Amino acid sequence: MICEVGPRDGLQSIDRVMPTESKKRWIKSLYNCGLREIEVGSFVPAKLLPQMADTAEVVGYAKQFADLTVVALVPNLRGAASAFESGAHRITIPFSVSEAHLLANVRKSHAQMYEEARSIIALRDAEFPDAKVEVSLSTAFGCSITGPVSEMLVRDLAVGAIDMGVDEISLADTTGYANPDQVKRLFSLVRDSVGARCAGAHLHNTRGLGLANAFAAYEVGIRSFDSSMGGIGGCPFAPGASGNVVTEDLVFMFESMGSATGIDLEKLFKARDVFLEGLPDEPTYGMISQAGLPKGFSVFSA
Ligand code: ZN
Repeated sequence: MICEVGPRDGLQSIDRVMPTESKKRWIKSLYNCGLREIEVGSFVPAKLLPQMADTAEVVGYAKQFADLTVVALVPNLRGAASAFESGAHRITIPFSVSEAHLLANVRKSHAQMYEEARSIIALRDAEFPDAKVEVSLSTAFGCSITGPVSEMLVRDLAVGAIDMGVDEISLADTTGYANPDQVKRLFSLVRDSVGARCAGAHLHNTRGLGLANAFAAYEVGIRSFDSSMGGIGGCPFAPGASGNVVTEDLVFMFESMGSATGIDLEKLFKARDVFLEGLPDEPTYGMISQAGLPKGFSVFSA
């Protein structure tokens, strides 16, 4: 299962604001490509991220597609309450394994972040029992402030989150530091402790290893991947490099291995035009969209 995170991870790292109506058209076109999980925005103060000010409306719009799982990112209880009220099916709480990163970004320690997550779970259990809560362990593969991150700490935080009632854990290579060996080792370590609840991989392609890392995660049993169409958002520290793993390239890799994604690549190439109508001239990335599909390539899931 591929979760398209372009409307959140991609758009929030672009300074320009995509108009709400354009976001809706883009999400509709992504849905029409076959994507059935889309992270449509984040519930953060509009002063901090004006790109995400319309997330409640966008969630409401995306909910019209009956078999689409609508995901929203929330950094705190307040954001979670708004997300639950808007009807998001799943929320993702970003939880930095690197405490220095967490302090720098949300001014919280691990203990304070656990408290926040605990109150989010309590709210969910009391009033929104159908909503799923995921914790994304960001900087799990390395931190741009402190460098290497302890693998035992990643495991311990995952166990702590599952023990408090979080439904799923994903491991996020926020900084694009991961390598395939490390991906296999860390997913295996966490899965040894929490099993299949360690479900998702959120990988960036900052240093060119995004697809290799995705394949490494696949080989150790991971089947949920975040990626963004056109790798939009880029990386401010690596000009010319995409941000998230590029959805088109990821779909191509899986489909060519015979692992069906349900996503139509030709339609996905065209969805770039819909995106560019909303943010003209924004750079997009990826190899397969430039090179085209190989001769004789059959789209397994179309
Ligand atoms: Zn990301």
